Amino acid sequence: MDIVRNPAEVQSQCLSWREEKLRIALVPTMGFFHAGHESLMMEGRRRSDRLVVSLFVNPAQFGPDEDLDRYPRDPEQDIRTAERLGADILFMPEAGDMYAADHAAWVEVPDLSASLCGCSRPAHFRGVATVVAKLFHLVVPHIALFGQKDWQQLVIVRRMARDLAFPVEIIGLPIVREMDGLALSSRNAYLSPDERRQAPHLYKGLELARTMVIQGITDTAFLREAIRRHWAENFSLGREDYLSFVHPENLRPVERISGATLVAAAMFTLRARLIDNVFINP
Ligand code: AMP
Repeated sequence: MDIVRNPAEVQSQCLSWREEKLRIALVPTMGFFHAGHESLMMEGRRRSDRLVVSLFVNPAQFGPDEDLDRYPRDPEQDIRTAERLGADILFMPEAGDMYAADHAAWVEVPDLSASLCGCSRPAHFRGVATVVAKLFHLVVPHIALFGQKDWQQLVIVRRMARDLAFPVEIIGLPIVREMDGLALSSRNAYLSPDERRQAPHLYKGLELARTMVIQGITDTAFLREAIRRHWAENFSLGREDYLSFVHPENLRPVERISGATLVAAAMFTLRARLIDNVFINP
């Protein structure tokens, strides 16, 4: 595995792979790898001839009061993981190599970025879309793999790739969870022991809604109340950021569940902000 820091070097290597007709997979990450990242790398490896993993804590997707400076990092361990999973390149650029001091071009998908996580993180998806577009130009991947944990990110990247005609297939993979249901996240490292004990209830509340839909309840106001009651009883250390029932692709709110629906939520703890979602298709 090559560790490459220089964007131009990654681009020239990947372009020459393209000329050799080799199939390239890209897995964009911010590092501090866990089994969720590993599942993307494994699938990328399986579906391609060359696997590029990027590890870049992208400043543009953090708000001014967010956790950029304390975002968990363990490059040594991440290098070992990427190598073990068969990456051909681990691309670890410096912020200054990705953003010139006078960087001025941005990619936005406003329709899909204003709701859900976009409410409390207004510039977040602009930062995501821009860095992913840039990675697509550098790596020219045939496929790019993303986790459904960040569902909104996945639909934004998919729309961007389609609308801007990037020659890449976007693949979304299921959420990898701890045994107790908590979605794996680098930010779980911020949880106190008590918060960690309660945190699986973020997911359990959402699952409760799925069960109720199977039982025939389709009124989202009613479902929302049930989820909030579950959280109030079991996740007292969490504070709701949002809880939304939306169409899985256009992210528009759903009032009565009649087809595929995404139940998505974010919860603040003292130092973390956790997100999760479940997909319901009655
Ligand atoms: P991050 O390093 O947090 O930016 O995540 C990099 C990629 O891993 C994104 O596509 C995430 O959606 C994905 N990912 C993060 N956590 C999980 C998880 N628990 N299960 C599946 N994919 C995940």
